Amino acid sequence: MRKIEKLYEGKAKILYSTEEPGKLIQYFKDDATAFNARKKGTIKEKGILNNKISSRLFELLENEGIKTHFIERVSDRDMLVKRVEIIPIEVVIRNVAAGSLSQRMGIDEGANLKDTILEFYYKSDRLGDPMINEYHIKAFSLATEREIEFIKVMALKINRFLLRYFDNKGIRLIDFKLEFGRYDGEVLLADEITPDGCRLWDKESGERMDKDRFRRDMGKIEEAYLEVYERIMGVQ
Ligand code: UDP
Repeated sequence: MRKIEKLYEGKAKILYSTEEPGKLIQYFKDDATAFNARKKGTIKEKGILNNKISSRLFELLENEGIKTHFIERVSDRDMLVKRVEIIPIEVVIRNVAAGSLSQRMGIDEGANLKDTILEFYYKSDRLGDPMINEYHIKAFSLATEREIEFIKVMALKINRFLLRYFDNKGIRLIDFKLEFGRYDGEVLLADEITPDGCRLWDKESGERMDKDRFRRDMGKIEEAYLEVYERIMGVQ
């Protein structure tokens, strides 16, 4: 499948049209941003690793009955996906306190939560992705009530699967972000699942294996992404 036209360039990916109107190529860049793009950099080979990691996780989720936009990985940095209409909501699932939750609630990072937390953010770079709730979603017609119910069920199902999956790889899934899109009357999991949008901590050492290493200038960023990739692929 050939790339025809650049449709959209985001912070970490570029979307291209293809010969088929219902299919796009999602190209993974090495660019990394944090703090609403105030911090910029590159992580060498991140695009390649993220494409492979996300492709694998989408395949596994499809096997669990979760519908995604993933069709196939077509090269190192290219993923063929269904052309969805992105729902402008970021869904964050949290199993352990970290990041903005720790700041907002004044609790230590790593503190256990009694229950899983699901949060919604309005996807808007201009506004810095403000946190919203279901009333905002309804009042601003960001998604229908049915879509929101479906998204919540799917996000929690994805969390249950990924928690167990990463645990088997010696990784604690602290939190992660999901995006969904509309396609042919259905809602599909879209975007990506990579260490850019997940907090992954080594079970034994507690070492961070995700974008926090870039956000917080912790070094060994490339190594951390490679380690996640290798554990997912079962390479020792
Ligand atoms: N996240 C993301 N994109 C965003 C905001 C958050 O992928 O625009 C992910 C982030 O990597 C983490 C989770 O969502 O795994 C929760 O992020 P948090 O709200 O703690 O924000 P942060 O501390 O990253 O600003």
